[in-house]
Parts: sequence; structure tokens; C-alpha cells
Amino acid sequence: MTSRLLAIAGLAALCFAPARAQRELSGSAQARLALDRLNVVGSVLMIAAHPDDENTALLAYLARGRKVRTGYLSLTRGEGGQNLIGAEQGDALGVIRTQELLAARRIDGAEQFFTRAIDFGFTKTPEETLEKWGREKILSDVVWVIRRFRPDVIIVRFSGTPRDGHGQHQVSAILGKEAFTAAPDPKRFPEQLQWVQPWQAKRLMWNPGAFTKEQREEVEKMPNRIVVDPGEYDPVLGHSYNEIAGMSRSMHRSQGMGAAERKGSAKDFLVTQAGPPATKDIFDGIDISWNRVTGGAAVGSILAEASKTLDPGNPDRVVPLLLKAQKAMESLHQPLPDGKQKELSDAIALCSGLWLDATADKYAVTPGGGLKFQATALNRDRAAVQLKSIDIEGIATATAPPTTKAKFGEVLPFNEPQVFTLTATVPDHQPLSQPYWLTEPKQGDTYTVSNQLDVGLAENPPLFNAHFHLRIESEDVDVVRPIEYRYIERAQGELTRPVVVEPPVTLQWSEAAMLFPQKTARTAELRVKANIPKAAGEVRIRVPAGWQVSANAEHFQLVDAGEQSVISFQLTPPAGDAQGVLEASAQVGDRTVSTEMQTINYPHIPPQVLFPRATAKLVRSDVRLLPKTIGYVMGAGDEMPQALQQLGAEVVSLGPDELASGNLSRFDAIVTGVRAYNVRSDLRANQSRLMDYVKNGGTVVVQYNVADGPNPFGGDTTLLANIGPYPLTTGRERVTVEEAPVQFPNPGSPLLHQPNEITSRDFDGWIQERGLYFASKWDDHYQPLFETHDPGEKPQTGSTLYTRYGKGAYVFTALSWFRELPAGVPGAFRIFANLLSAGKTQ
Ligand SMILES: [Zn+2]
Repeated sequence: MTSRLLAIAGLAALCFAPARAQRELSGSAQARLALDRLNVVGSVLMIAAHPDDENTALLAYLARGRKVRTGYLSLTRGEGGQNLIGAEQGDALGVIRTQELLAARRIDGAEQFFTRAIDFGFTKTPEETLEKWGREKILSDVVWVIRRFRPDVIIVRFSGTPRDGHGQHQVSAILGKEAFTAAPDPKRFPEQLQWVQPWQAKRLMWNPGAFTKEQREEVEKMPNRIVVDPGEYDPVLGHSYNEIAGMSRSMHRSQGMGAAERKGSAKDFLVTQAGPPATKDIFDGIDISWNRVTGGAAVGSILAEASKTLDPGNPDRVVPLLLKAQKAMESLHQPLPDGKQKELSDAIALCSGLWLDATADKYAVTPGGGLKFQATALNRDRAAVQLKSIDIEGIATATAPPTTKAKFGEVLPFNEPQVFTLTATVPDHQPLSQPYWLTEPKQGDTYTVSNQLDVGLAENPPLFNAHFHLRIESEDVDVVRPIEYRYIERAQGELTRPVVVEPPVTLQWSEAAMLFPQKTARTAELRVKANIPKAAGEVRIRVPAGWQVSANAEHFQLVDAGEQSVISFQLTPPAGDAQGVLEASAQVGDRTVSTEMQTINYPHIPPQVLFPRATAKLVRSDVRLLPKTIGYVMGAGDEMPQALQQLGAEVVSLGPDELASGNLSRFDAIVTGVRAYNVRSDLRANQSRLMDYVKNGGTVVVQYNVADGPNPFGGDTTLLANIGPYPLTTGRERVTVEEAPVQFPNPGSPLLHQPNEITSRDFDGWIQERGLYFASKWDDHYQPLFETHDPGEKPQTGSTLYTRYGKGAYVFTALSWFRELPAGVPGAFRIFANLLSAGKTQ
């Protein structure tokens, strides 16, 4: 390798670093990969249940190593898991995980698909899963993705048996296998055949996880088993596929999947389950060359020649061959293998040294509003490239007018960016850029998607694409680029984000669920925020029957975009227990807006917006709380402090300084947030201060934590420090059925009677689960408060443990308060109020 080549390879390796999720391969590594990929027409689809179930090493090996079109179909978006990086749950967590998968795919080179299934949380049985999803609905989606993607080989990650654990894992294999035979059958889901053809994949394989010694031994005895080694080193990429997998997997930050970039051999097993067994290679008996396309041999030989003659220092020298291949492709009388046309025009632009880019002047536009686009064509090589025209397609169209400075039809000058400005007006009735799966009300645990062509897509397609019409050596080449907003983040550098349609104003209630612990009125605050200058109009609110409001409508007038105003309403609840929904809308001109705008911003994914309805849940339920001042040690992120404030307490966030040297005795109770012991070393460091606080009369309530896993590089497992005044071990037990009955093993405990009388009714209306990471062992000083277990399992008493210590009280509780309180579950408020009051009751 020459020193220049080394430098290029080094740069490619650097650009692969996962710190910037938006970066992809570049330079000669990208050209080498693009040309090699053009020579291969095979494809593989992997199927599993969740973000993180995929075998990223195998995906990277297939996409980057074998250069086949590779997809991962995750049945769900992982909405039901725990969020380690922030407070987002449900829909918003699904949006984060979708983007984390896309960030992972940009590194491992695969494509991403989903079904309409919602991850409703951990479940132990496939029966519960299939019942909640509806077998036919999700099967039809798997069949649809197969018919559209047309994989040669389908790989399921799970076995479809209890070996897989999670019921959703089992179902991903059950449906994957069923879809293998349903997709080629025109009688199955015939309504899809107006868009797609039946498709018979050649082979169905199982890629069994082999994490334990026993599993490994089991897998090594399986018949029809072949071995692949993603630990193979790729000199062009500068990494093994398994190392790339570590980078890719580390994008799953919301689930703490930071992974090692392991070097060296790392074997994987594939077991044929249907179709002719593979004996040596995953593609045994499958032609993945152009020869399988009628008349494609000629295209293949030109592309092979291009690949063979690529000079990394002078990639433009293969452009004539690529143009020849394009011509040969055009003369084929059958549909091209998916994506090849675009791959080829992108490769021509890449090898010609062209930089083609289109950006919008802002990331958000309102219906009826205008956008200005900048399309840039830069010729960084000396080839004679003509730019004939640029046009923009999408929710509005535009064609670049010939301008005086940059002209169409002339040869692009060397290394001088040619910038064209275009404008477009968004239609008046353009819908907001809600992720497509969230636009219609859900049906149970599945999304409603009325446009069949959206089903399976990872995200909304870009609102606009720029088409660059080029002429290179008397051949027409069309290159398409999505239009994004390009901006600088001072701490991170140059970034891009998708362009979205937003409403003129957005509305948001101060709390998603409002608790009325007494029958007195309280203030509800509605925030009205302008996305356009001079936004004015009227907000209207609607309360459920039996509730009273001080005014049904208020005027607002905002001057600047970005400005907001807070409008207060007095709400009076009915005397008895009641629940209902508070609604708000704003009338701006002839447009009615009834949505919030939630922006999700993390450094590893492009910013995302979603538009939930501007509603709040109203809950009237008597809840008494004894503490006045509560200290909160925020952990991985939750919305508990806002929920606790609704009980009438002052809630103060405790940072490292307060924990180390603040006056803790001013708090009636201190609560540790979700996973606080996992993420706050200052909390672990000040544990003895916290226990002294209890000894002196305080109350500490500890929510769930997990024990860290072993260090893959060897050395000690990081274990939690003692989290209670007496020995207590956090385990992995959980109760996933939210209706699971709850018993009271110590019915005389003051925590069940003061200040609120607790009955089994307080466990009604819980969402998603009872709790997770219960204690597995504890000292006799602790008194278990509740017994609950999933159907068919043994009784569990480790969810909530209470003990007196010195003059105070300590409570460990792994019930899912972080879900139930922000969701406004009245019984959860009443029980938690008793836990907080433990030090003041006997
Ligand atoms: Zn999973």
C-alpha cells in the first residue's frame, strides 16, 4: 500500500467511529465497497422481535463483507422497554429506538424494517403475544416485507420455543417460519398482490444465540448447521465485521447496549430449517451474480471489470465502465434487482468526485408556508460533467431557474461549488410530520396504518428529494438526494436533521396527568407556543362531565416565532372519585390545532419531532401525604418529581453537592430515581450519609436498580454497593402482567393503613406491568408488603420491602411507580404516599 492509500484507509476507519452517528464511509473505501456491491445481487432478511435482538455481527458480515442487500425486520420498535438515557416512554421511546436502529444500520450497512406490532412489555408466553397483536395482522406484515424485499435467505434469530424466553421472541420465529411459506402463496393476503408479487425465499435459516456453554454445545450438535466467521478482518474497512458490530450495537444507547469492539475469530452458526439445506455457505445453490438476471451477464461482466480496475487514487477512471453498465442495464427487459439503479448512479457520482447536496433553509415549515432550498453541485475532479437541471419533488415541487452566476448546461468548473436556489410552497392542508405509525389511533397493541405502502418502513420518507440531472460523457445520469436541514452544533460540529411540517402553534398542558388529591380546585396551565411570527387566536378547552372550569376559551397573541404564553384555568373536580380527559385546541385563522410538539434530541440520533394530542388525564382521588419536603435523587431519568409535586409536596432535586454535604435533615423523605444506583456514583459514595439520615428519623424510598453485567474484557463484575441498611440483593424477578393479583402478606403493616387505607382496588388500572428487578434475598429486618406473581409462576414477595432503622424508615420498592404515577393511576399515588410517609407512621 502506498502512503497515500494508507492515509485514505485510515481516514475511512476514522469516519466509521461511532461518536458521530451521522457519518458514513467515505473516500476509496466507499468506492471499493460500492463497486463490489454492484456486482452482487443476493439478499438476506433477518427477523426478530426488538431493537437489539438482531445479530449485528452477522448483518455487518453479510452487508459489508458479502456485499448482499441485507435487512433486519424487527417486529416492534421496542416501545415497552426501559429507557436508560431519559424519561421518554411508550411512543417517544419507540421513536428513539427506531432512530437508534437506523444509526446502527448506517454503521453495519443493513436496512431496517418494522411491522405494526407494539412492544407491550415483557411477556413469558407466545399465546399472550399473538392474542394481543392478532396473528393474521402481524403475519401479513411479515409477508408484506418479504414480498417487497424479496430475500434469497430468511434468517430467524429465535427458535419459536420456550428456549427464547420472551414471548415476543418466540413469536418472531413462529411468524417468520409461517411467512416463509405464506409469502409465495397467492391465496395468502391476496390484497397485497396489487402492489407486490408472491415471493419464495430459497431457504429459511435459524441463527441461534449461543451465549452459555450449554447453548454452544447444543448448537454444535445441530444437523444442517454451517459456520460463518464475522471475526474475519476486512482490510478495506480496517475492522473485522464483529468490531463493526460492536460500534453498531453501541448505538442502542437507550437500552445501555454499549458493546465491545472484539477482535479475532467469532463464529456464528446457521441452521437450515426449510428449503434445501446449506452445507458450506449460506448461499449454497443460490446464484447471487448478475447471471441470474435474464440478459444480466453483460451487465455483470462490465461491473466486474470496473471493480477489478478501480484505482483508489483515481476512481474517475472507472466512470466510463460504469456509464457502459448503466446503458446495458437500461436495455434489460425485466425489472432490475432492487436498488441497483440508484446504487449505480450514486457510484457514478462518487467515482466522478461529485458532491451533490440539497438543503432547506429551516428544519420546520407550517402548512401553507414557504421553504428555500440550496442545491449544490461541486465537481472535485476534472471530468467533463454537465449539470442539465435540478428539480425538487415531494410534498411540493420546484425547478431551479437558470441564474446568472451558476448556469445549467455548462461543464461544472473544477472545485467551485455551483449553488442553485429554489423555493417551494407547502400545501395549505399538508398534514403534520407525525411518524406515520402514530397518525391514527392504535388498535390494542398494534398500530393503525391505512396506507399499505407505508407498512414496514422504518420512518417517514423525506418530505423533499432533489433530482440532479447530469450528463457525463454523453450519457444521462440522474442522482437523487434527500433534502435535509444542515446546521452547526457548537459542541458537535456540522449536523443534519430531517425537514418537518409543524403547526403554527402548539399546545401543552403542564402535566400529562393531573391529580386532585382533595376536592378543592387547582390550576391547570396550558402553554401556547408560536412556530410563526404574529400568531394570534383563541384556545378552547373541554372538560369531562362533572368537572368545572373557570373559562372555556381565552385569546392569545404572540409576537415572535418561538415565543410562548401560559394560560391558566381553574379546574374544580367532582366530589367523589372520578377520571376524565381534559382537551385543548387553538384556532389560528381557519386552522384548528390540537397537538403538542415533542422534540427528541440526543447526540447519537438526528433530532425527531412528534405531535401527541394536547390532552391531560384528570384524576380525582383522595390521597393524603404526610411529608412536606421531598428530596429526589434522579437516576437514569423519570417523571416522578412532577408526579410527586401533585401530592402537594415540595420536591427538591439532590445533586452531588447536596448528597455529599447538604443538610439532608430538612427533607421529610428522600427518593432515589429509577436506576439511580446504577448511574450515580455520588449516590453510592454517599450511601452511609443516606443511611445516617434514616437513622436520625428520615425516610428513604429506593426504586428499582439492576446489577451490572460482567466486564467482557475480564476483571470484576461491577456490583451495587449495599443499597439498604441491612443486606438486600437485587434480582431479576419481575411481574409482567399488569392485572396480576396482589396480596398483603403483612396485613397489619402501618404502610397499608396510614395515612391512606390501602385495598386491592388500589392495584386496579395499572399499566404495562407490576414491577421489575425485585429483591431476590433480604435480611429478616425487612417486612415484605406485597405478594404478586405472573400467572403460573411461584409467589414473589421481593417487590416492596420495609424496615425501621434507628428513628427512621427505609423502603425498597421495585414496583413500576415510574410508569404508574406519571400515567395518573390513583391507587399507585395512594400507596406511594404511604411509602413516603413511612417515617411518620408506626
Ligand atoms: Zn428482544
